[in-house]
Amino acid sequence: MEQQRVGIIGGGISGLSAGIYAALNGMEVHIFERSSKAGGVCQSWDRNGYSVNGSIHWLMGSGPGSDYYEIWKELGVIEGSSFHVHDRFFTYQADDGKEYSLYTNVDRLQENLLSISPDDSGPIIELCESIRTLARHEIPAPHASIWKQFGHMAKMALLDFPIIREMIRWAPVSLGEYAARFKHPRLRELFSNLWNPEMTMIFLAMQMTYAHMGSASYPLGGSGPFIEKMLRRFLDLGGHFHTNNKVLGITRQEDRCTGILLENKQVFPADYVVSAMDGMTALQQIVVDEKITAPVLEQFKSLKPFPGILYFSAGFNYSFPEVNPAISGTLIKLKQPVDIGYTRHTMGSFQIYNFDPTLSAPGHTLVTGIFETDYGYWEELYRKGGEEYRNERNRIVNELVKNLSEHFPDLKGKLEFADAATPMTYVNETGNYHGSYEGWLPTPAAIQVRIPYQLNGLERFYLCGHWVHPGGGMPPAAFSGRNVVELICSDAGLDFISQAS
Ligand SMILES: Cc1cc2nc3c(=O)[nH]c(=O)nc-3n(C[C@H](O)[C@H](O)[C@H](O)COP(=O)(O)OP(=O)(O)OC[C@H]3O[C@@H](n4cnc5c(N)ncnc54)[C@H](O)[C@@H]3O)c2cc1C
Repeated sequence: MEQQRVGIIGGGISGLSAGIYAALNGMEVHIFERSSKAGGVCQSWDRNGYSVNGSIHWLMGSGPGSDYYEIWKELGVIEGSSFHVHDRFFTYQADDGKEYSLYTNVDRLQENLLSISPDDSGPIIELCESIRTLARHEIPAPHASIWKQFGHMAKMALLDFPIIREMIRWAPVSLGEYAARFKHPRLRELFSNLWNPEMTMIFLAMQMTYAHMGSASYPLGGSGPFIEKMLRRFLDLGGHFHTNNKVLGITRQEDRCTGILLENKQVFPADYVVSAMDGMTALQQIVVDEKITAPVLEQFKSLKPFPGILYFSAGFNYSFPEVNPAISGTLIKLKQPVDIGYTRHTMGSFQIYNFDPTLSAPGHTLVTGIFETDYGYWEELYRKGGEEYRNERNRIVNELVKNLSEHFPDLKGKLEFADAATPMTYVNETGNYHGSYEGWLPTPAAIQVRIPYQLNGLERFYLCGHWVHPGGGMPPAAFSGRNVVELICSDAGLDFISQAS
């Protein structure tokens, strides 16, 4: 059989994953990436001697015993990586001078939360029991291939009914609703500010289960070295990675996709085309044909993207001995609330990297923070021109630095750089719809939506990436890349293989 030629649009995690599996299956693979480097939103960048980690806080499946771990191994990111295993999931340094922590070990978690608030035994024990149950069973990765999921579902129906019970328990409950069950004001604040309150609790229950199992750890070095490993694996398998190559469209012969149209006016003929770029743009500007895109665009209309974020970063000549690091960072009350877009922020969640010595010189520490903000506000400001946009960004950065210095008095005079990315940075750098950094928000309703990998009426064209699995994140992006190659193999009459022989 002739070697199949695959063109992939976008070199983020999903594009690299699809590229690696297609190359493993003997195909000639070309990834076209519009920016100057691989990674998409999963990036690191250098500032004043610091490596700013732009994405990975934790890698679900960092430890053995799950489908997630197997895929990371296949993609070449486990071997040679060192992981920091946190003992806390999230920490709140409240203005009463006390620290409130969600420990990763479920027994310690329960004991600590009950000692803080015995009156909240209901929601505490319900979550902890759920984590114990999930940890006792093999949790199926919801993004695994159709066949694997089918096998898991059949097994669960017969043997693992407790997992189904936990899913039914948490899927309809939002994080905000769960937080509201707490009587203790600090615990209520902690859960309300952990992530977006509209997210379904099943996400938290699952992530905390993986954390309890020591399988939601942080790869030292962060996003940059992680992506370099995936890119290296792809290139070693013979793949071709083309940077600064924006894709403008596809070519078609009747109802079959036949190639990719590049910005430089060249056509790349391909047997199969995979879109691993922003989902909305792929449908509206790459495929364009409304007859084909309408059903999926209709699904998109029912979903809400993750709100845009202001991603704060700063470097301090200080080691933060008073901070116990946690997977999802440290929450502090902002002494001076900060207006970001149309929202007044009274709390700030920061990742203080005193646990990763590779990101800065000894004794110096990178600090990052994620602040949800309104895309429309930033888009309007950006369109008005550079200065107003930059001034507003600088004002916010300065106010956040001031807040940090008030919370940690030893920080004064130790700042070495401070910066922020806005939703417009994500739009400009990666083309993601409304600057969303993780695709669709996984609300209780959104996780019921199944976005197809293929479009009716367009053969040999496939969609992958964080826009096809509400909730997004690295594991779904990686799985979706693998899954579309499984479909390509099936269309091409090949037996799918997932490991080098
Ligand atoms: C601050 C932050 C923290 C995060 N933390 C975590 C975490 O702890 N754990 C986790 O699992 N996930 C995390 N994520 C989310 C995770 O990084 C993403 O969901 C995942 O990397 C998405 O990968 P992707 O390939 O689907 O999309 P993208 O990364 O968006 O990749 C798409 C690529 O397509 C390219 N492209 C777009 N249009 C074109 C075109 N026309 N032609 C050619 N190329 C094009 C883009 O430039 C981009 O490189 C985080 C993200 C951020 C920003």
